[in-house]
Amino acid sequence: MRPTATLAFACVAAAFVATAATPAEKADYRYGLTRLNDVLAKECARRGITITDWHIHLRGGMTAAMAADREKTSGIRSGVLENHGREWPLDSDETLAAFIADAKKTLIDGRTMPVGIQVNDRDWHRRVSPENLAALDYVLADTMIMGTGRNGKPQRLWLLDEPISDPDAWMERYMEHNMRVLDEPISILANPTYLPTCIAGEYDRLWTEERMRKVIAKAVAKGIALEIQAESPFPRAKFLKLAKKMGAKFSFGTNNFDPKPKDLSRWLEVIDWLDLKGDDIWRPAKLKNGQHPSTDGERG
Ligand SMILES: [Zn+2]
Repeated sequence: MRPTATLAFACVAAAFVATAATPAEKADYRYGLTRLNDVLAKECARRGITITDWHIHLRGGMTAAMAADREKTSGIRSGVLENHGREWPLDSDETLAAFIADAKKTLIDGRTMPVGIQVNDRDWHRRVSPENLAALDYVLADTMIMGTGRNGKPQRLWLLDEPISDPDAWMERYMEHNMRVLDEPISILANPTYLPTCIAGEYDRLWTEERMRKVIAKAVAKGIALEIQAESPFPRAKFLKLAKKMGAKFSFGTNNFDPKPKDLSRWLEVIDWLDLKGDDIWRPAKLKNGQHPSTDGERG
């Protein structure tokens, strides 16, 4: 789930001041030496998979230094980001530039961590300066904000202010919304096939194979990763299996609210279900002038 605006605003302040935290003094953000994490590490090694958590928010006390230390102690690589948009922590080019510069100060063995943004406004690519876009390593988006709520603000689907009276008609609009998000120059589609709680019980009926194919085909054509998010029930197995068959690339994410490590069993479960190998895992390419990297062939 996503934070309320209030929480998000509070957290950006924490992101800017908390980078001085000393990891050694406060190591509860590290992954424990659990059997699950051990099996995950061994499975990844066996399959030639390097896992990166591309969905580490620097909020709620989580810092770039903690993300760097977590990478060094777990072997799971870190990509750090924060929410961008009106009424979100990174709401201007100035705050975005400061965020990128700050996150890039933290080094792991002399190299910087990938730095991204999670975009929440559908015109984000016209509002981010070319310089900031060039400095970002990736852009992550989900489909969890659509239309306008009763308060005249973008409707956050996890905080719906009225029930969905006609799920089929709603799903038609939601599909258009999914296509629009995938049209943007994004790198990762987070929490694909998300549905609001009130209609999540109708997932199998609403997410027809035709709809799933549309989303997957567009992601594949544009080189956009489909995220496997820790502790999220989306997407379900049918979508994931179809995506693998259609040649999709997958990314991993936690979507944290604080430094506490999440349960990674979902990652392991999907790796096993889909029999993922190194080649199935998405790798970022540099965004250039708002154009998606798949159009210029640069990988790395
Ligand atoms: Zn997020």
